[in-house]
Amino acid sequence: MPYWPSVIVPTPAHSGVGAALSYRSEQTLAPGSLVRVPLGQRTVLGIVQDGADNAPANLSEAQTKSVHAVLAGLPPLNVEWLQLVQFAARYYQRSLGEVALGALPAALKDLDEAQWARRLKKHTAQKPPAHEPQTIRRPELSAEQAQVLADLAHAKQPVLLFGATGSGKTEVYLRAAESALQTPGAQVLVMVPEINLTPQLEARFRERFEPLLGPAAVVCLHSGMTPAQRLGSWLSAHMGQARIVLGTRMAVFASLPNLRLIVVDEEHDPSYKSQDGARYSARDLAIYRAQHITNERGLGCPVVLGSATPSIESWHAAEQGRYQRLHMPTRMGGGALPQWRLLDMNHQPKGAVIAPPLLSAMQDRIARGEQCLVLLNRRGYAPVLSCHACDWKSSCPNCSAYRVFHKFDRTLRCHHCGFTERVPRACPDCGNLDIAPVGRGTEQIEEHLNALFADVRRPDGGPVRVARMDADSTRLKGSLQAQLDALHSGEVDVLVGTQMIAKGHDFRRIGLVASINADAALFASDYKAPERLFALLMQAAGRAGRDAAFAAAQGVACEMWVQTWHPTHAVFQVLKTHDYPRFAAEQLAERAAAGMPPLGHQALVRADARTQDAAQAFLNLAAAAADGLPHRSGVTLYPAVPLTIQRVANVERAQLLVESASRSTLQRFLHAWQSTLLHTRSAPQAKGLLRYAVDVDPVSV
Ligand code: ADP
Ligand code: ZN
Ligand code: ZN
Repeated sequence: MPYWPSVIVPTPAHSGVGAALSYRSEQTLAPGSLVRVPLGQRTVLGIVQDGADNAPANLSEAQTKSVHAVLAGLPPLNVEWLQLVQFAARYYQRSLGEVALGALPAALKDLDEAQWARRLKKHTAQKPPAHEPQTIRRPELSAEQAQVLADLAHAKQPVLLFGATGSGKTEVYLRAAESALQTPGAQVLVMVPEINLTPQLEARFRERFEPLLGPAAVVCLHSGMTPAQRLGSWLSAHMGQARIVLGTRMAVFASLPNLRLIVVDEEHDPSYKSQDGARYSARDLAIYRAQHITNERGLGCPVVLGSATPSIESWHAAEQGRYQRLHMPTRMGGGALPQWRLLDMNHQPKGAVIAPPLLSAMQDRIARGEQCLVLLNRRGYAPVLSCHACDWKSSCPNCSAYRVFHKFDRTLRCHHCGFTERVPRACPDCGNLDIAPVGRGTEQIEEHLNALFADVRRPDGGPVRVARMDADSTRLKGSLQAQLDALHSGEVDVLVGTQMIAKGHDFRRIGLVASINADAALFASDYKAPERLFALLMQAAGRAGRDAAFAAAQGVACEMWVQTWHPTHAVFQVLKTHDYPRFAAEQLAERAAAGMPPLGHQALVRADARTQDAAQAFLNLAAAAADGLPHRSGVTLYPAVPLTIQRVANVERAQLLVESASRSTLQRFLHAWQSTLLHTRSAPQAKGLLRYAVDVDPVSV
């Protein structure tokens, strides 16, 4: 008896092809089954959505093509997973096929029937070695941790774990996971912003759970893995062998048939929002996913968002009572948070890069055997190279940006398109030999500190060791781990780096953290800039004084220094008191007054084109053509504007902001507008348009 499944296939985002196509099959196929089906000239992977015993009414039987193959032996994706990708596609305005197939490991799509059979056989043959559960050592919970875990056990809503840096949030995640895993077969999803930057977290999960559940129970899912590794982790999760999945934002789509807990660590981190394809927020999808899981409790599984500096959206949700806020204000061991030292650069010697009071504070720390972190959010040696004779600058020929001077390999590199050249000996325009760096990056600060500390000695009499950690120094495999190890073991006295050094590292001997140039963020036009700056500085400060006993033995309070030309700026005034709730309240008041998220709702349409005119014309035409669409009166469409960096890799970029006081009005309008956008592509004025994308809840505007 033939069967007619409708199959989700990888249709392009704006193709206008319906979500699922009808095929013919010789066997009944359960929803969620993976199949290989013909699509145009190709054979593609598809997901069975549902099916019927009768041929679809509008197609003759002959028109319906046959399913080529079924991925035999693979349990179907469950209904909750299908529901998740459907929601994500709808909410982020993409095709279901793109989101659903994009959420599966790429390696799965490339396998033909025979290859699949071999791969599955290999996977099931990897019988985990017989495992005797071992007893594990766990620290005694602090009173705050115990209270939070008790509350978590009864939480009916998503939980916002607002815990100071070093308050022991990770231990809370570990214990919450442990209790969820007591249910036989239960699975836990733990998401982190960038798993490679915080290898310690993975190590702590493995250390805790491998003795209990065996080495196969913990798997990772992130973009640093090979396609084959990713497929392996995905299969383990889907087939239930993996009990804990640790991953980056992509892991929110992992197939976890027995999911019983979701943790989103550092939930404020912008990297949870995807910046291409379907621009989804993994944090927001985690909430949706958790709330739509049916289990022994009924509907919903616990979800914990953790941060010392929650996103303003999550804070707002807690204020409104949609999330339950649990607070851990105290650092483990009773250690103090660092004291803030705002260094007014208006009163420092002209041209000082590291002002004298900061320099001498660092020297004192080093002399006592403590370590210092120096934060500068700009890699390279100098952001621009310039000729003083003719005003030549190291512009990128392909982008509206300067190429950065990297001294260690003597290159000029564009951080936007990657265009790289050897540094010229002389000015390319006038031949002047005197071309000079303007501004400073991490390489230069490293060099500068080495010179400044040339005569300073460590307590053991050795020279001061300055190291640097940024995207350049950690490019080679293993180099990040080596650099973190050097810091943990005390080989390094001063670490200079970008925001990478502020991530969740548990450093033990940092007495001083300094941010030497944060001012640029104070006057950025993006309404989220203060929030990001506040979080960055609080997180950076949070690396100091983490070992209460060590800090106490030193007898000097740990410190967070900020060099600024604007010490009276509101952000700094609140930072001084570590008062995140006050900061959040002020931000929410400002945003309420301006109708900004989370008190209003936004989407962007971004357009890439050969010319700026075409990009803007496309957007403005589509906006004009929206008149009369449903819900048009409930949204504001702003005129198209160029992006801050208008041209990248010879592509001109523009965007148009859509705002509404109501999330559902915005959603409905965007749905209605999709076909207008699609049609406007072919308008003569939009000739040269390369692509466009809708970004719902953008992280930067
Ligand atoms: P957070 O994630 O909140 O910044 P961590 O989870 O890294 O903090 O904890 C800070 C430090 O305290 C870590 O070194 C951790 O091992 C330690 N720690 C956490 N909980 C406990 C506990 N209950 N007893 C002793 N040490 C703990
Ligand atoms: Zn010149
Ligand atoms: Zn470039």
